[in-house]
Amino acid sequence: MKKKKRIIIIGGGLSGLSAALYLAVKGYPVIILEKNKYVGGQLRRIQKKGFTFHIGADMITMPETLSDLFACANKKMEDYLTLVPLDPQWRMFFPDGVTIDITNHFSQSFDHENRQFLSRALFDQYFNLCKHFYESMQQNIQSSSFQTFLTQQFKQLFDRNYKRNIHETHHLFLDEPHIKQIFDLFPMLESLPANQASPLLLYTVYSQLHLGLYYIKDGSYRLIEALVQILYELGVEIRTEAEVCKILTECFEVVGIELTDGTQLPADVILSSIDPQSTYKHLLCDFSQTPKILKKWDQNEPSLSGHFLLLGINNVYQELLHHNYFLTKNPEQELHFLFDKKEPAPDPTVYVGVSSCTDPHHAPSGKQNLLIFSHVPTLQEGESWEKYRKPFYASYRLKVISKLEKMGLHHLERNIDWEVEITPTELKEYLGSAGGSIYGIRSKKHHNLPFHSFKANKIHFLYFIGGSVSYGHHIPMILLSNKKISEQIERDIQTSP
Ligand SMILES: Cc1cc2nc3c(=O)[nH]c(=O)nc-3n(C[C@H](O)[C@H](O)[C@H](O)COP(=O)(O)OP(=O)(O)OC[C@H]3O[C@@H](n4cnc5c(N)ncnc54)[C@H](O)[C@@H]3O)c2cc1C
Repeated sequence: MKKKKRIIIIGGGLSGLSAALYLAVKGYPVIILEKNKYVGGQLRRIQKKGFTFHIGADMITMPETLSDLFACANKKMEDYLTLVPLDPQWRMFFPDGVTIDITNHFSQSFDHENRQFLSRALFDQYFNLCKHFYESMQQNIQSSSFQTFLTQQFKQLFDRNYKRNIHETHHLFLDEPHIKQIFDLFPMLESLPANQASPLLLYTVYSQLHLGLYYIKDGSYRLIEALVQILYELGVEIRTEAEVCKILTECFEVVGIELTDGTQLPADVILSSIDPQSTYKHLLCDFSQTPKILKKWDQNEPSLSGHFLLLGINNVYQELLHHNYFLTKNPEQELHFLFDKKEPAPDPTVYVGVSSCTDPHHAPSGKQNLLIFSHVPTLQEGESWEKYRKPFYASYRLKVISKLEKMGLHHLERNIDWEVEITPTELKEYLGSAGGSIYGIRSKKHHNLPFHSFKANKIHFLYFIGGSVSYGHHIPMILLSNKKISEQIERDIQTSP
């Protein structure tokens, strides 16, 4: 019998924890190394003065991917997590005063409140197209290998139906500007502007509107706690405050890692949840092929970062649901600032999450917890967010608050009881991601595919996991990708000499 390979996973975010589970159930000894004091990465819980905030991944779609993860370890998800369906899913506030609720089976509500907005027949055609993309995505994922998946995606891209970008597709089917703007937002959740995103990504519209949007009761950090519990039972070692500074290689094969305190740990297989470019640049700077590999990726750049305001509010804004978007007056200008000028948009689309609507104990009675998020560009080399804080009267924070006040959240500034601001500078430090990116690296060449190679170039038994290499940046896709990667690793181990 072959000796079991020792596996090290760099990063204790959702990617690292779920990959560890998929590999531990196959019997491999796994160690997770996380640089921060707590695991979870982008999924974080912050509590103060009776307010609770869960950052990252508040919207759960395709819940079967989560139950499948638990089932892999012979566990029932229901014993660990309660998923609460949200309907309405989102409330959309427009600068002209129009408000639209996105509900389950949205198109069926047209005969009532949404009738004035668009033609039902066209929307039904659009929704059928989204369903078609969802079904083809499911088929591709079932296919036996990543290679097959990619080949099929490329074939489809060249197919007549797949040549348009999402914005053009919406132009064909959605004749009403408010509705078009809402659906153009979906690819932004994948860090792609609608005018560059492949319609393949419209599967997200179908999966959310048809299969539903869920919330993890008590907040998304419950998922991290549940995974940690199962990983301990499976014997996975989780080390926190363990920052990897080097991946050690010999003869083009990984042999271990080095931590910043000088500790070296042996490994036969390494998975990095840091994006491939940063992994080569920072952890493999001694590897002879690194300059050549990095040159090949010159064109790639970090995708978007985010700006968060966590506000404990001495008031209840009755008009807010659990998930709300305050849309921009000028979507083209917003994309131009974010993707071309690489500056925060003058009038950003702002998300406001209020988990106390579903979990009342997340805020003291008569108060609300507002998690306010907007996309901003990642920081360039040597840049800091400080310049967007000064002068105070023109700061980005104030711009966001003033926008929300103008669009209906009256006296928001005055109602703030407690506040935390999280900027790309903090995200860069906390996540160790390039420029504070929350979606990894995006390839200019493959704008349409949220996918790069997950197997390292020129180094055996080094693999990448996480947003930069997954089918998408959200939880279901990270889980599906990790399942595939763990199967591939097992195949590679079994066929290695
Ligand atoms: C604002 C926001 C909202 C989101 N909303 C949703 C949503 O509603 N639904 C959804 O499905 N998804 C959502 N997502 C996406 C989802 O949260 C992420 O895709 C997922 O959490 C990413 O996990 P990860 O493990 O790939 O990356 P990360 O969470 O970034 O984990 C990487 C980990 O690696 C660690 N690390 C970095 N460098 C080192 C090193 N040298 N040594 C050791 N450790 C290191 C970091 O500290 C971090 O813990 C959202 C994300 C954000 C930011």
